[in-house]
Amino acid sequence: MFNVLEKLKREKTIREMSLMSEIILKNATVITMNRRREIIQDGAVVIEGNKIIEVGKTKKIKSSHRADVEIDCSGKMVLPGLIDCHVHLAQALIRGCADDMALIPWLRERVLPLQGAYTPIEGELSARLCCLEMIKSGTTTFVESLLHWRYGFNQIARTVEKIGIRAVLSKSLMNIPGYADQKDAIPGGMIEDGETTIKQTIEMIKRWHGKANNRIHVWFGARTPGACTVDFYREISEKARKYRTGITIHLAEVKKDIEYLRREFGMTPMEFMQHCGIVGPNVIYAHGVWIPPEDFKILHKTGGTVCHCPASNLKLASGFAPIPEMLSSGVNVALGCDGGPSNNCYDMIREMKLAALIHKARLLDPEVLPAETVLEMATLNGAKATLWRNKIGSIERGKVADIIVVDLRRPHLVPVRNPVSNLVYAANGGDVDTVIIDGKIIMENRRVMSLDEEEVIHQAMEMGVAVDKRLGLNIRSKWPLK
Ligand SMILES: [Zn+2]
Repeated sequence: MFNVLEKLKREKTIREMSLMSEIILKNATVITMNRRREIIQDGAVVIEGNKIIEVGKTKKIKSSHRADVEIDCSGKMVLPGLIDCHVHLAQALIRGCADDMALIPWLRERVLPLQGAYTPIEGELSARLCCLEMIKSGTTTFVESLLHWRYGFNQIARTVEKIGIRAVLSKSLMNIPGYADQKDAIPGGMIEDGETTIKQTIEMIKRWHGKANNRIHVWFGARTPGACTVDFYREISEKARKYRTGITIHLAEVKKDIEYLRREFGMTPMEFMQHCGIVGPNVIYAHGVWIPPEDFKILHKTGGTVCHCPASNLKLASGFAPIPEMLSSGVNVALGCDGGPSNNCYDMIREMKLAALIHKARLLDPEVLPAETVLEMATLNGAKATLWRNKIGSIERGKVADIIVVDLRRPHLVPVRNPVSNLVYAANGGDVDTVIIDGKIIMENRRVMSLDEEEVIHQAMEMGVAVDKRLGLNIRSKWPLK
């Protein structure tokens, strides 16, 4: 019996080894994001299986490695895949459904009713469209913050598995259909009951957490204060601890949120989070626009992450999150694109530029949030936030190969004095040329291997507006269509 087991084990190892192929990215400008933040000119990265096994000068690496696949990155920049810490997969299909509207009608008349009318087929298509857009603009890991059961959690997880992107998928949890003091803010199609949402999240954790070679994690997606009771938040906190997973929540996004917490509980947002047990390094607070300075200490001490979503905050006129202030208080701040009606795109490179710009004007100080800090937010800080700090976020020996290649040979990207500056201030998602996730080439020369791009676009064009029609909404150009 022992021998048979040994033999099987050996055969398995050989089979796994035969699947391992070496990839070399050569002749690149490698932005390592290592401890010393080294940028290697004429650099190369060697990938074996799903791991980075060597980083250095091309000449030296070429003399000691003969790879199965060599990718010439002359004139290109190689950097860690970008990490989007706040995404709504289901909102890609409702892109542009509620432009230039105030938050409450935006949410109650358009976004929530449309999402509340989704079938699982539309939920899955929206996820596919969103993943396609993220891969094409250099995002290799994302955090989905509120997956409603009606979108088809299982099918979406299968889609993420098949596409090859890395993801934290959070199941939405609520036990009151409210938002802040508005008790009936959540429409029928989006209402879930507390006990069921807990049960579903645990079911999904058991089924998907750690699956796809540990590429998929399942977290608790607690809804905003006003949609959960204190006891319910405490139950979520206890369950997240029990299953050793994370929690993500929208916090202090608009002024109304802090007014509600002050009036109802006499607390600041982070005091309330502490009161509910929603604190710790495994928590991502999306937006945090109105988090007051006295809360920074709690954030720093408890080790949670604030996910800055500048485009969404600007478009919905939510305000300016005190990001430079949080960073100088030692708070971990990551970056996120939010969703189709609030951004309206999932392009982390454009998001980086916005993050770098808005705080300079707000504080009348061009030195705040330099390009380098913003790139840290989109890589290393995101890795810490997703609890994948030892796996992703930098290009270093032993880390998992989540890498993107950006083509610098474009009119808007030359000359290159400081490659990080060109990336943050001059590039956009369309400049991403190649994407490797978990050691696999997912996109090469802008062709995505794991998806039929034409089919996704065609289906999105056809099916996107079908949801509007079902609800009797006629959202169209404000100018006459001839
Ligand atoms: Zn959001």
